[in-house]
Order: sequence, then C-alpha cells, then structure tokens
Amino acid sequence: MDKKVKVRFAPSPTGDLHVGNIRTALFDWAYARHTGGTFLFRIEDTDTTRVTDEYIQAAIDTLKWLGLTWDEGPEVGGDNGPYLQSQRLDIYATWAQKFLDQKDAYYCYCTPVELEARREAQRAANVAPGYDGACRDLTQEQISDYKAQGRDAVVRMRMPDGSTTFVDQIRGEVSFDHKFVPDFVLVRGDGSPLYTLAVAVDDILMKVTHILRGEDLLSSTPRQIRVYQAMGIKLEDYPLFAHLPFVMGQDNTKLSKRNGEVSIAWYREQGYLPEAICNYLALLGWSPGEDRENVTMKELCELFTVEKVHSSPARFDMKKLEAINGDKIRALTLDDFLAWSLPFLEKAGVITGTQPEIDLVRSALPIIQERIVRLSEIPQMLKFLFVENFEVDADCISKITDDASKAVLKRALKELEALSQWNHDSIEGALRSSLIEELGLKPRVAFGSVRIATTGSTISPPLFESMELLGKEASLARITAALAL
Ligand code: GLU
Ligand code: ZN
Repeated sequence: MDKKVKVRFAPSPTGDLHVGNIRTALFDWAYARHTGGTFLFRIEDTDTTRVTDEYIQAAIDTLKWLGLTWDEGPEVGGDNGPYLQSQRLDIYATWAQKFLDQKDAYYCYCTPVELEARREAQRAANVAPGYDGACRDLTQEQISDYKAQGRDAVVRMRMPDGSTTFVDQIRGEVSFDHKFVPDFVLVRGDGSPLYTLAVAVDDILMKVTHILRGEDLLSSTPRQIRVYQAMGIKLEDYPLFAHLPFVMGQDNTKLSKRNGEVSIAWYREQGYLPEAICNYLALLGWSPGEDRENVTMKELCELFTVEKVHSSPARFDMKKLEAINGDKIRALTLDDFLAWSLPFLEKAGVITGTQPEIDLVRSALPIIQERIVRLSEIPQMLKFLFVENFEVDADCISKITDDASKAVLKRALKELEALSQWNHDSIEGALRSSLIEELGLKPRVAFGSVRIATTGSTISPPLFESMELLGKEASLARITAALAL
C-alpha cells in the first residue's frame, strides 16, 4: 500500500505572503485533505536578516484566515517539531558535520572576491559559471595556510559527475546535468545553514512524502536530492516532487505588484472573502473540469488531484477574481454577510456597533448583496443611513440645484408627504405616477434627483428600498433641505 501522504507548506516569511505563496499552500492543503493525509506547516526562517517575527505571525494568521488549517506546525505542534527552522540549527549543524566526515562535503576557503573573479573568467571563456571545485582536495598545508590568513570557511557539498533525474509528478521526467549544478554551499562562514541544507534535512526528518511547490524551485531539486543521498536515504524514501506552473500577470509577464501579486493582506482589506480567494487561486493551474469556475472548499478537497494540475503557466486575472468574489458574497447567508460587513462599517467609522445600528445594517444588507463585488464597498453604500449631519456630496450638489431638479424634488416631496404607508412599493408607485407618467420625465432624471437628495450621492443601493429604510421623516427632511440648497 502507498504510504500516507504528507505535504508541507514551507514559506520563508521575508514579507507578507502573496498570491503565489498562497496558491502553493492551497494546493498542498487540498492534496492533504483529498488523500486524508497530513498538512505540515514549516517556517523557513534561517535567513535572519530578512525574516521578521511580524512576517512569521502574519503568515500564520493568513493561513488561518484562509481556512487552510494545518495538522503539524506552529501553534498546533506535532511529533516532528520544532517547526521553525531557526529552532533547529543544531540539527543542520550535526548533518553538515556528518557530511564533512563522510567527505561528501568539504570546507571551502575561497573569498567572495576570488569567487567573483573566477566567475568573470568563466564568463569570458564562455563556460557555465559556478564554483570550480578549487577547494575539493586541499592539502593539510593549504588548509593551515588559509586558516593562518584568518579566512572564514563555508561548507560545500561535493556534486559528483553525472546527472540527476527524477520524475516530477506534474512535468514528468526531469534531468539535470551536473555540469550545471556546481558544488554548493551548505553552511555559511558564520555557521548558519543555507536553504538547500535545511529544506532537505527537514523534509526527510519530518517524513514529507510529496513536495508541491512553485516551479521557481525546480532547479534546486538536484541539490536537495544530493543532500538526501548524503543522508543515506533510500531512493524509495525520497519525497516525490511536483512543481506547480508559474503564475503570470495579466500582461503575460511575471506576476508583480502592478498586475496582481500583492500581499493577501491587501485582498483582505479590500473585502475579498477567503473562500473567493481560494476558489480563484485553485483555478490557477488546476481545474475541477467541465469549465466550472465555482468551487467550494469542500469540493476542492474532494476533487483535487496532482494529475489534474497543468504544466503550462497560469494567468492571474483580477476581473475573474472579482466576479468570483461577487458570487461568494451573494451566496452568503444574511447572518454571515452581516458578520463580514460589520468590521468594514466600523473601520470606516460609519457605525460604532450599537444594537440599533446592527439591526439597521441587517435590514439594509439584502438590497446591496446583489450589487457589490468587494466588502469594502459597503461603507460607501450604506453610510447615508447612519450619518448624523447629512450632507449631499460636494460633487453632486450642482446636479440638483437647477430649476428642473428643484421642480422634480418639489413634486416628489408633495407626493411622498401624502403617503400613509411607507414602503418601497408605495414610494415607487407615488414617484412613478407623478414624475414619470404625469410629468413625462425619464426615470434617470426623475429618480436621479431624488437619489442625490436622500442618499447624498449618485451611487446608492436601489432608491425605493433605500428610502424605505431611511424612513419617511428623514427622507422628507432631506428633500426639504435639498430644496433649500
Ligand atoms: N522556503 C522556500 C521559499 O519560500 C520554499 C521551500 C520549498 O517549498 O521547498 O521560497
Ligand atoms: Zn573554495
């Protein structure tokens, strides 16, 4: 029987997680859930100059917010911890020493200046640049000499002649000629481990079975496999690799801030639902089949397989993400929609969170649920219901102060005052029969003035429902005030 699947998401939090990272996390998570396996979360923070505690915490929070819960990792623990690489330095040091003892690795005393000079020469001679093996077989004398000069030594892995071939679960057989994989550094001069050492040691010790990650890491695979060999791992115990296709921006260039690769924190502030982000990112390189674009998290877990991941690059499309977000917002129950909305309204200062305010928001939400694509639109849409000193938006005043608009508002006021029932049907009936049928106005002209007068702007939820929610007294007072402008 196949062994139980264990996948890992192993970011280096040198900034906020972005679209590419999260797509990787999502695929790992979905594959673990699909197979009933384990999803492990590991923080690769050995580069202490770039990783900060804030970014680590942000990465943890982001995964939680997206609902990508992990079975082993920070906060939840597990049998293979610690899960922060900064807490595992002694483990990497022990393995590096073992590799030195086995002569798989050696000390290299070359200085950065020397290395650069040789690389320059390689370029000039048109040979592949990379470490030339100068320190592979140093004599005791040479070593003593270098030490006497006070040089720092890095630990380098010896790459044997030949090639590394493995079957990538997405792109098939991949082969790397070692001519292009020079001896590589495992440990820096200051004793800190490099990514290749730490990642490979951890994937083995943490018993990872599948490594699903971005294609940008494909070329580091032969080096990781070399570390497995040096660790004495049997071929059948190597993790399987699956490199996910690149995500391109809309303009077919690599994803960047300009075309969408912004941090997930930004999407959160803009009012994208985690479910929408996951649904959209799931489509970047994978598809549930039958041209479907809408998948729930549950369906994703049921349907996700590595075989269905494409090897060609995926393209990020903000419009599609927006459309999916709109769909997910419309699918929310009123209670859930309310819960998502309140923080946006509070943050914008539209409400303070009292019960009467919450009740009013609850009655207003159904009329905007069909119209928004981001939760951040809600404050602008609903603020007319809550402002204490109502004023028409400055750029809209001139649209209702001409004679024609005044005539419309005057007539509307008269009709609305006479209403004994105040609901959207009665309001619509009164305004239609007077303004459209009797005065023969176009709806846009007639209702536009009333909209500005009562909601303060040209952008609002449906007019008659808005006026119903606002109430008769406030609606009439606002139209009266508008007439005095
Ligand atoms: N820590 C690496 C990174 O964020 C990824 C590790 C891996 O998936 O192999 O780039
Ligand atoms: Zn050297």
